[in-house]
Amino acid sequence: MTEAASTPTQNREQPVKASELDPKFKYELQKIHGSEKILKCFQCGTCTSDCPVARFSDSYRPRTLIHMAQLGLKDRVLKSDTLWLCAACFTCTDRCPQDVEVAAVIRVFRNLAAEKGCFPQVFRDQASSLLESGYAYKIPELRIKKRESQGLPPLPKGNPENVKKTLKGVKFMERIQKPQGETASEQ
Ligand code: SF4
Ligand code: SF4
Repeated sequence: MTEAASTPTQNREQPVKASELDPKFKYELQKIHGSEKILKCFQCGTCTSDCPVARFSDSYRPRTLIHMAQLGLKDRVLKSDTLWLCAACFTCTDRCPQDVEVAAVIRVFRNLAAEKGCFPQVFRDQASSLLESGYAYKIPELRIKKRESQGLPPLPKGNPENVKKTLKGVKFMERIQKPQGETASEQ
């Protein structure tokens, strides 16, 4: 992977073309649970200045993502790698003077991105492991043996069949099998 590809970006540096703008996007967001109040954002920047992730990232800015969505830059928002940096700590939601549920808005963006197959490989890998073993992370054989040698009890068996049954309703399998990077505006 090149350095450029591994660096999260918010897709905000390139000039905006009129053809990119989707004026209906903000109204779609107003109808989705969690992002109903997106148009109340007046860009004060409190969410970004109080966000613990933004403090350590050169590119993650919740305020900017919301601004891009208000402008209709749907593809840029949904394809932004930085969406996936949010730690869902809810500090932004607690501090927003306009009662915008910022953390929920980010979750909505992620859900829309995931529906289009736009999400990082690491989550595909975790999802595949969950479906195979019932664990988001495949426990290495070496660790299992080490537990045995230390006299620790075996780890509980994962139940992938139950996981599959539970996730069927949200079309989880279809979503993780979508080709990565499908354009966000494709329906
Ligand atoms: S704190 Fe609220 S009003 Fe201020 S920029 Fe963030 S979302 Fe917008
Ligand atoms: S929920 Fe996400 S965007 Fe909000 S403060 Fe926490 S890390 Fe930042």
